[in-house]
Amino acid sequence: MKLRVLVLGAGFGGLELTSILSEKIGDRLDLTLIDQHDSFYFGFSKLDVMFGRKSPDSVKIPYRSIVKPGVKFCQETITAIDPVKKMVTTKNKTYEADVLVVALGANYDFNATPGLTTHGNEYYSFEGAEKLRGVIPKFKKGNAIVGVCGAPFKCPPAPSEAALMLHDYLIEAGVRDVCTISLIIPFGSPIPPSPDSSKALVKSFEERNIRFIAQRKVSSIDGLKRAAILDDGTEMPFDLFLGIPKHVAPDVVLQSGLAENGWIPVDRANLLTKFSDVYAVGDITSVGTPKAGVFAEGAAKIAAASIIASFEGKENGSPYTGAGSCYIEFGKGQVGRVDVDFFSGPKPFGIHHDASEALTADKEYFGSSRRERWFGLK
Ligand SMILES: Cc1cc2nc3c(=O)[nH]c(=O)nc-3n(C[C@H](O)[C@H](O)[C@H](O)COP(=O)(O)OP(=O)(O)OC[C@H]3O[C@@H](n4cnc5c(N)ncnc54)[C@H](O)[C@@H]3O)c2cc1C
Repeated sequence: MKLRVLVLGAGFGGLELTSILSEKIGDRLDLTLIDQHDSFYFGFSKLDVMFGRKSPDSVKIPYRSIVKPGVKFCQETITAIDPVKKMVTTKNKTYEADVLVVALGANYDFNATPGLTTHGNEYYSFEGAEKLRGVIPKFKKGNAIVGVCGAPFKCPPAPSEAALMLHDYLIEAGVRDVCTISLIIPFGSPIPPSPDSSKALVKSFEERNIRFIAQRKVSSIDGLKRAAILDDGTEMPFDLFLGIPKHVAPDVVLQSGLAENGWIPVDRANLLTKFSDVYAVGDITSVGTPKAGVFAEGAAKIAAASIIASFEGKENGSPYTGAGSCYIEFGKGQVGRVDVDFFSGPKPFGIHHDASEALTADKEYFGSSRRERWFGLK
């Protein structure tokens, strides 16, 4: 008897879970991995794409490279999920399984911030990052804003990274002296669980004359005034606006009965939803970690162990600790790292590692090792 598994979404969570199941029980596995796209890219590639450091095509990894025992990839758009019957409908057909894993990530609600895409820009979607390749080079003078429009948002360091990378870009273009950069974040510090990483970032902002505005978010963009309107009514005129849009669960999840208060609640012990044999991992959940690839991957490991234990009639292993390491681009080719643990202690805590060239190499390895593990590509 083969275990029939449907993995919805081939991002960080779906790819890691698929790889583990194939590695451990590939000969007894009948797994279908479904994604609407034909290729994967790391979230951080969007920063490289928007600043013209890498071409859009060079950061895409095609799903057709996945050749793993017991695994089939299907490029299809999922239109309905029935968690009771464990049935999934796509634009092409209907699938049934013994185990369902929802790893559909977070989408963006651009309309929640009026004017964002008509008068400003966002870099969280691939298309938005691609569009900015033509916009950023035209910014030669005036005010730039990197602004968060809602929380939670993916990769909490990414707004700080964009501000620091924009600084480098403008220095290289020889126009930094005639430009201002402001960063607007709805938290008290850039990375709340790690006071040391936050301190290092704030110091970098001060050294580079980047204005850091904490505890505020952007409510709308006024096209006539070319100004960002903050949630306390403050108007900030801009010549370049780089936004982080409000995040939402994909519609297909909201319509499935799996979500509560916008995201899927899961049991931290095994990543099971309230429906039997239906798991959820990554950004789509409200498990309590930030929306980041490393946490999606960590959750996928626990869910995979639980699926295997249950298939083999064994005891479940250790629960999800919510631990992971996030790399932070500090600019000037230097990368820092924060090792965060959300659930092991009484409160989340992070250990900061100063930016260095060694950590830049570490981040490179982070990408290349996943590329090899998930896609078999060197
Ligand atoms: C600018 C930026 C920088 C980032 N930097 C980092 C970083 O340095 N480190 C880090 O750990 N994280 C980083 N992240 C966050 C990271 O990319 C996400 O948190 C991570 O991808 C979440 O993994 P996931 O598996 O939950 O979802 P995703 O990786 O988003 O995967 C979800 C998949 O579901 C598919 N899907 C959705 N709806 C449907 C549908 N209806 N039908 C079929 N398929 C569907 C999507 O196509 C997608 O492939 C960054 C994000 C951004 C935007």
